[in-house]
Amino acid sequence: MSNKIYLDHVSTTKPHKEVLDTYTKLLEKYYYNSDALYDDGVAVYRLQEEARAKIANMLNVRSDEIIFTSGASEANSMAIKGICLNSKERKHIITSIYEHSSVYNAIRQMEDKLGFEVTYLYPDDQGVIKPEKVKEALRSDTLLVSIMHVNNEIGSINDVESIAEIVKKHSGTYFHVDMTQSLGKIAINLDNIDMASFSAHKIHGLKGSGFLYKRNYIEIAPLISGGQQEFKIRGGTSNACTNIVLAKTVRMALDEMVSSAKKIKELKDYCLEELAKIDEVTINSPKNAIYNIINISTNVKSEVMMNAFNLKGIMVSSKSTCGSRENEPSRVLLSIGVDDNNAIRISFDNTNTIQEIDEFIKILKGNIKKYGRD
Ligand code: PMP
Repeated sequence: MSNKIYLDHVSTTKPHKEVLDTYTKLLEKYYYNSDALYDDGVAVYRLQEEARAKIANMLNVRSDEIIFTSGASEANSMAIKGICLNSKERKHIITSIYEHSSVYNAIRQMEDKLGFEVTYLYPDDQGVIKPEKVKEALRSDTLLVSIMHVNNEIGSINDVESIAEIVKKHSGTYFHVDMTQSLGKIAINLDNIDMASFSAHKIHGLKGSGFLYKRNYIEIAPLISGGQQEFKIRGGTSNACTNIVLAKTVRMALDEMVSSAKKIKELKDYCLEELAKIDEVTINSPKNAIYNIINISTNVKSEVMMNAFNLKGIMVSSKSTCGSRENEPSRVLLSIGVDDNNAIRISFDNTNTIQEIDEFIKILKGNIKKYGRD
């Protein structure tokens, strides 16, 4: 196990020891229902509200704008379906064709079941959704624009601040951003953004943990009907200890961001240099993609390549892990004109080393030699 090489950090990350230790300690002591009115229940409630306030503070928003969820998929559904279910007049959505499945399929459902009209924007040759395209697509009945910040397959970064400026001027239209892959990686500015989704397990936190940022005056219909929890938007006994430890997770991610980015950039640059020496390799990620993701194609089918890597203890992905068991080609790669089934995504973390990249490159060359088609 120990000499395995993990190059799939976009898929998930190992929880920080401090996060795990704090969580287990919390859970032993604070298992009470955070809505119970005796002292111990109130203590859990207070800790959870403190965590909410800390997260809000780190993101420069208000406490009542943070809604705890089970992760980014839930936050995405909560934002998209919640706003659509509440809309009587406006029936148009703008999104991109390369959103994560939790956005794409939620919007498809609104299209199929509730009769929304959807404009799917395509990225340019750098994998970016141009703000002008959003501007052109806006209509008087546009309810929602949902465009991701960092694409999880190719790593392209969208200028969500400029898009937010455009949407802000269009009254009655809300802007939602899936920020799952940008938190803890690049700076986030929520100033003109109405809703944004986040996940803990992408930043060394717990699985089943995340949150939606939603401006406090925006009303969304609850997806989980229930009691008073989470401002009546998400019923069910609060996952309090998980929510409490999320504040620590976000703080650690933000504290480490700069030093971690420097190290990961070095790893990526080194990896790109080595990849450039292999004729059979094409880089699919755009030049100015985020520093922790490289998407490549070779002359070996993704499945064969991944199995071959797996046998050598190297963990990589072919596309979004959420669609890994589906046979359909990647929507993301098709949108930037890559229509082969030979893609591999490598994603780094500050725990990776140059030696691991060397090993990856060595095995990659061996796999190409053994399984590659001319
Ligand atoms: N959005 C993006 C861009 C992602 O990469 C992921 C995770 N693959 C998600 C949403 C879903 O996150 P979660 O696993 O927390 O539901």
